[in-house]
Amino acid sequence: MFERKPWAEPYKIKVVETVKVTDREHRLKVIKEAGWNTFLLKSEDVYIDLLTDSGTNAMSDYQWAGMMLGDEAYAGSKNFYYLEANIQKYYGYKYIVPTHQGRGAEHMLSKAMIKPGQFVAGNMYFTTTRLHQELAGGTFVDVIIDEAHDPAVLHPFKGNVDIGKFEALIKKVGAANVAYITVGAPVNMAGGQPVSMANMKAVSKLAHDNGIKVVLDATRNIENAYFIQQREEGYKNKTVAEIHKEFCALSDAATMSAKKDLYVNIGGFVACNDWDLFEELRNMVVIYEGLHTYGGLAGRDMEAMARGLEEAIQDECIAFRVKQVEYLGNMLIEAGVPVVRPIGGHAVFLDAKAFYAHLPQLQFPAQKLAADLYVESGVRAMERGVVSAGRNKETGENNLPKLELVRLTFPRRVYTQSHIDIVAYNVIELFNKRKEAKGLKMIYEPNYLRFFQARFEEMV
Ligand SMILES: *Cc1c(COP(=O)(O)O)cnc(C)c1O
Repeated sequence: MFERKPWAEPYKIKVVETVKVTDREHRLKVIKEAGWNTFLLKSEDVYIDLLTDSGTNAMSDYQWAGMMLGDEAYAGSKNFYYLEANIQKYYGYKYIVPTHQGRGAEHMLSKAMIKPGQFVAGNMYFTTTRLHQELAGGTFVDVIIDEAHDPAVLHPFKGNVDIGKFEALIKKVGAANVAYITVGAPVNMAGGQPVSMANMKAVSKLAHDNGIKVVLDATRNIENAYFIQQREEGYKNKTVAEIHKEFCALSDAATMSAKKDLYVNIGGFVACNDWDLFEELRNMVVIYEGLHTYGGLAGRDMEAMARGLEEAIQDECIAFRVKQVEYLGNMLIEAGVPVVRPIGGHAVFLDAKAFYAHLPQLQFPAQKLAADLYVESGVRAMERGVVSAGRNKETGENNLPKLELVRLTFPRRVYTQSHIDIVAYNVIELFNKRKEAKGLKMIYEPNYLRFFQARFEEMV
């Protein structure tokens, strides 16, 4: 009767939110008003929102109940101490400073750890991470393995650091001129590709032998731990929680966007093991975020984070998350749609260079594909290509990344299999008429993180 063993969401629905179904004519009108940028659409015009998994998660009844226990004291909220204890328990870092979201953590850590003129190594850039490193006077150097830049290559740990590239950087500029290495695990911009434990061990050893600190971008590290459990020799009998903690222990500090892994709508933290760095961060947080026991958050937000972590770290919870993404990915692969492979942990990435092969990169094929998908179906995705890559800070030229992608990102616990079937159907429909697509030209470009607010016009 069944072609495959059926599976279902490991939750049932207690509260629902109605979504609006619009027609094509309306969507074409509003995307033009939005300058062909899906970030500038109104959420109420969106049917299925796969823009991001950031802060778009559904909280559980356990988290909502915790929200009622918010201790909104200015100083010393009990929710902070509970959060601190849970982060120590599951991540293992000694010192924690809460922030309003991930970039608040990146801002302070970059300022505290980078001396102007220094280099910062990383396994592919992330938009806000790199910008904060640059604003602190650093120069980012990508040391990810070459395979990460090719959407079609199959590699179980495509987010790995190329140890040779990292070593060459140290030799070239001198260890004292490398502020630190950021390891993002998994690598968002590479398609949600994980980093292996073996690689993290090698990074940690090389860095520490040279007196260089390792900073983990822990945003989706629970997903990374799940991939290690599934793919790396020697880990299949360990829990995700155990693997996660072992991975974190190879780093000296971490920045975290709780809006991702921790099933909340807002929050973040920066953590470290070094007292001096902690003192600096704790001092800085009062300037930029708020007191060190709330960091821009309400007490109830910290309680939701602490409880979200307890759920997120469970094997069943993370397995479902990653399998849901894989379900969409496999449907698209079967239909011949070009996607980044292997399928990542948080999103399916369409390869816009192959999808709209007739459009040159400076006609923004990924930007256009995201907009066209919206017009056709009401499904909202985002560009991760030349618009996101911005301009070279010295020459002012467009950075031309090898990967020109559209990201279909999954909010956690929000959509069901039937929503995903609809997304797959519409992507495939669009693929069948891909040759009709026209390119875009950029008519407004902000100075920073241009992908959020840039505006475009369709070429005639
Ligand atoms: C989202 C994200 C950040 C930044 O976090 P915000 O909460 O959006 O400020 C940093 N790194 C990665 C990998 C992310 O996905």
